[in-house]
Amino acid sequence: MHLKPKGSGSGLRQEFTIMIIPHGQDEPYAFRLSQRWVQWAGIALIVLLISSISLVYSLRQTKLQLAAYHGLLAENRQQQEHILFLARQTTELQEQLAEIQALDNSIRTMMRLAPASATAAVTRPTESVSAARDARLSLVSRGTSLAATILRTQQNIEEIKEAIPETEDSLQDLERKVELQRRREAATPALWPTSGNVTSGFGRRRSPFGGAWEHHEGVDIAVPRGTPVFAAAGGVVRVAGWNGGYGNAVFIDHGFGMSTVYAHLHRISVRVGQQVTTGQQIGLVGSTGRSTAPHLHYEVRVNGQAVNPMRFLPQNR
Ligand SMILES: [Zn+2]
Repeated sequence: MHLKPKGSGSGLRQEFTIMIIPHGQDEPYAFRLSQRWVQWAGIALIVLLISSISLVYSLRQTKLQLAAYHGLLAENRQQQEHILFLARQTTELQEQLAEIQALDNSIRTMMRLAPASATAAVTRPTESVSAARDARLSLVSRGTSLAATILRTQQNIEEIKEAIPETEDSLQDLERKVELQRRREAATPALWPTSGNVTSGFGRRRSPFGGAWEHHEGVDIAVPRGTPVFAAAGGVVRVAGWNGGYGNAVFIDHGFGMSTVYAHLHRISVRVGQQVTTGQQIGLVGSTGRSTAPHLHYEVRVNGQAVNPMRFLPQNR
């Protein structure tokens, strides 16, 4: 290709001829172009070039923005998962707290105590569970569901924060009551002090001395002299020695108004003020005091008043 200006520089209307000269026998082709045309073509070329550059540049920018957008989208999805995870965790905490409260109440029922204060009860979090599930299922309503989940989770956390100290108080109260009940039970004489037949019951009877009517304050358990006698419950020894008609006797104070008496003993193996435990040996059966034959006279007293020991003695021994 050969390009040459026609007319050399001085004319107003310069023209260019483009000649294409093929190798071989064919005639060369010639295009005549005006200078104005060449100028416009040049301008068009420059405009095209600038547009192309700016297009490439903006494409590059768009690509970068798209990458950033995808990054944000992934981050957003991650955060959504995180929120749902926290919501589920909160729900689980609430369920566990509700279980603890249910346990507290069932123990109270078992022990025939009044139920725990109703204000402490947390609601079982069925609503927030379904909200979290909805938020996971529906992509369209995800944004609003997620906002609702966050709000509900905040409410649930508030509820947990309020319920924990009350639950703690309730459990501490329960602990005190269980401990009291345990001590009361430990103070209740529930053992046979010695094992033998009851030959004389509690209440009105003919006196073995002279046959007159009298009130028998305990039960007589017939056993040979020297048979061990055990404390029917733990407590403090108040009497350990000769006590009128009781002969050699042991009186034990169990607390809670409960006390027991063991009379006509042959030997005493505890002293006044001594702390004894349930089943601890306190002496040996004898026939001291107002007694006709070896036996244990056993009394149970509630607030100082003798009651029928059979109420406390287990049926099978
Ligand atoms: Zn008696």
